[in-house]
Amino acid sequence: MALIDNHGRKINYLRLAVTDRCNLRCNYCMPSEGINFVKNDSLLTISELEKVSKTLVQLGIDKIRITGGEPFVRKDLMVLLRSLSKMEKLNDISITTNATVIGPYIDELHQLGIRNINVSLDSINRETFERITRRKQFDTVHNNLIRLITEGFNVRINFIVLEGQNEQDILPILEVMKHYKVSVRFLEEMPFNGGSKSFSTIKWNYKAILEHIARRYDFEKMVSPPTSTSINYKIKGHKSTFGIIPSFSRTFCGTCNRLRITATGDVITCLYGKPKTNVRDMVRRTEDNQEMISEILNAIGSRAKTGFQAQNEHTKTIFDNSMTSIGG
Ligand code: SAM
Ligand code: SF4
Repeated sequence: MALIDNHGRKINYLRLAVTDRCNLRCNYCMPSEGINFVKNDSLLTISELEKVSKTLVQLGIDKIRITGGEPFVRKDLMVLLRSLSKMEKLNDISITTNATVIGPYIDELHQLGIRNINVSLDSINRETFERITRRKQFDTVHNNLIRLITEGFNVRINFIVLEGQNEQDILPILEVMKHYKVSVRFLEEMPFNGGSKSFSTIKWNYKAILEHIARRYDFEKMVSPPTSTSINYKIKGHKSTFGIIPSFSRTFCGTCNRLRITATGDVITCLYGKPKTNVRDMVRRTEDNQEMISEILNAIGSRAKTGFQAQNEHTKTIFDNSMTSIGG
């Protein structure tokens, strides 16, 4: 079975947020305090997350990325991962993490065959890192990152380029990572930060990032899969590669293969749109997944063509959302 949207795009990739909680307070993602985390009983339980995933795999999803909030602050996360790793038609389980508390789980992740880990790291300078994340976790993150890379995981570093905060680290992070088999992906900032900031343009867009790197390095464009959100490059002599994700400019919508489910069960068919439905009550009410299937098919059958269109479909801004509830 395949999930095809109303624009002929195949949907095979689920981004599943397992919590809205986080132990960092990245200033581009959430305010420093006064965050309204949802009540515990509003979060999908592990068994509900399993049921939703199973239904979606049955419908044609073959890749699931676990995200959040910080997935590893959820103490029972490994129970879900063990169960997902047994789903035959699921070819790829990936995780996006801040790498603060992943340490004790690294061995088991490897045993489960989970290899694709995205680590968010917006600076290689301790002070800058601590200023952005508002927490003192630099050493732990750095150590876990190097451990993941050297223990054979496919690691991609997500680095959001933030005007006035970490632009001075763009070239140094490439210099430090050139010795490692890792991909450094620079992301355009999006105004999903819990409402404290909104903007209609950004200084560090795709073009500005690329030009900045081109002043120092010679690089070649790599061939990327059609559904890739990043445009990827290889610098001569570097073991690492780098990519740029035009999240704000949104040039990747034409090949978008993603569906998002938030930690409370909202079904989001476009990052820039509103939730189309919610599956939590359905999965709680009955073992029968027919209603959930029909709601998900409806949602996928009425997808906006682009992020700009999705954004225009509602009058109230979606940017008062935080990424911690959507999962990036
Ligand atoms: N806590 C985990 C982490 O930081 O990797 C997973 C959740 S986080 C919300 C998922 C991704 O969203 C991260 O790579 C993060 O950098 C990105 N993100 C958060 N806020 C963003 C923003 N305002 N603009 C662009 N990306 C953002
Ligand atoms: Fe937490 Fe990730 Fe948001 Fe940072 S980006 S506050 S680590 S959820």
